[in-house]
Amino acid sequence: MFAQMSAEDMASEQLKKKIEEYKEVNINNAQMATGGGTKTDLFKCGKCKSNECSYFQLQTRSADEPMTTYVWCCSCGNRWKFC
Ligand SMILES: [Zn+2]
Repeated sequence: MFAQMSAEDMASEQLKKKIEEYKEVNINNAQMATGGGTKTDLFKCGKCKSNECSYFQLQTRSADEPMTTYVWCCSCGNRWKFC
């Protein structure tokens, strides 16, 4: 009985962790989809040909490497990297 209970507790702890992880991913996705970036019409979506894109830049490697530009389409949510 006790063993069964603790096993269930452990399972639910793991489940909670997973749910938290998914929440974080969803929040990140939502931020990328709705804001946090800079709107631009300099990029064109390869999927829906829309110019309504946003982008943000990240320093992915060392400081002397060029920044990576992440672009996403505001119309269809397509994402890609522009270096
Ligand atoms: Zn698109």
